[in-house]
Amino acid sequence: MTDRGTVRFGDGTQVPSLGQGTWMMGERSSERDKEVEALRAGLDHGLRVIDTAEIYGDGGSEEVVGRAISGRRDEVFLVSKVAPSHASRTGTREACEASLRRLATDHLDLYLLHWRGRHPLAETVAGLTDLVEAGRIRRWGVSNFDVADMEELWRVPGGDACAANQILYNLESRGPEFDLLPWLDQHGVVPMAYSPLGQGGDLLSHAALGEVAARRGVTPAQVALAFTLVRPNVLSIPKASTRRHVDENAAAQGLVLGSEDRAVLDRAFPAPTRKQPLEMI
Ligand code: NDP
Repeated sequence: MTDRGTVRFGDGTQVPSLGQGTWMMGERSSERDKEVEALRAGLDHGLRVIDTAEIYGDGGSEEVVGRAISGRRDEVFLVSKVAPSHASRTGTREACEASLRRLATDHLDLYLLHWRGRHPLAETVAGLTDLVEAGRIRRWGVSNFDVADMEELWRVPGGDACAANQILYNLESRGPEFDLLPWLDQHGVVPMAYSPLGQGGDLLSHAALGEVAARRGVTPAQVALAFTLVRPNVLSIPKASTRRHVDENAAAQGLVLGSEDRAVLDRAFPAPTRKQPLEMI
C-alpha cells in the first residue's frame, strides 16, 4: 500500500506525489534568480521531486536546478532526461555526464528517455543500464511511451527495469486512464503526469474548475492538480516560476476531491471510453 500523498517506486523508494517541473526555466538570464528562488521555496514545502531535461533552455534549466539544489542535494529526488538524438549506448552515457556537470551533482535519482527516436530501444537501455551500474543514476525510465511502446520495451533485455513513464496527463488529456495507466500500474511503473495545469492555459479558466474551486474554497489550479493525484501512485510535476504559484500548488497536496467534485469534472471532461493514442506536447 502507498501512503496518500506519496508515490512508491518498484524498489520501495517513496517520494511525495507532488513535484516540480522546470520546462522554460533557464531561458532568460534575467529570470534565473527568481526561478532558483521558486524551486527552493518548493523544496521548503517538501516538493522534493525536481524534473528537468538536457533540452530545456539548452541546458539552462539544469543550470538553474543545479543552483537551486546547491547545499540541499540530499533533500532532492532529481530527474533529468536524455534527448532521443543522443540515446545511443555511448551517447546516453555522455549526455548524462553533461547533465550531471550542469546540475553540479554526482548522480541522478531518475533518468528518462525523453521520447522515442531513431536509436533502437535496446541501445538506449544498454546505456541506461551502464549508468546504473556506474552509480551515475539510481534508476531509469521513459517518457511519452504509449502501451505498444511499453510492450516493446518489455521485450528488450533489461527493459522491464523501467521505473517510470512521464506522460501528458491532465483533465483535458485523460486518454491514459483507458489503458496506459492500468498497464503501468500492473507492471509497477510510476506514471509522472506532465503539464498537470494544462500549461496554465484555458483549462484554468474552465467553468467546471471554477465551480469546484468555489465550492471547496480553493483555486482552479489546485483543483487541476488534485485531479491528477486522484489515482494512487501518480507523480504530478507542475511548473511554477513564481513564489505565489509554488505556495498555491504546494497547498493542493491537502486537497482531496470528493465524489460531487469529481462528478462535476467528469461531466465537463469525460473519462475515455475507448483507446486514445497518447498525446504529446
Ligand atoms: P504546467 O501544466 O505545469 O503549467 C505551467 C504553467 O502554469 C506556467 O505558465 C506557470 O506559470 C503556470 N502556473 C503554475 N502554477 C500555477 C498556479 N497555481 N496558478 C496559475 N498558473 C500556474 O505545464 P508544463 O508544460 O510546464 O508541465 C510541467 C512539467 O512537466 C514541465 O515543466 C516539465 O518539467 C515536464 N514536461 C515534460 C514533458 C515531456 O515530454 N516529458 C513535456 C512537457 C512538460 P509560472 O511559471 O509563471 O509560475
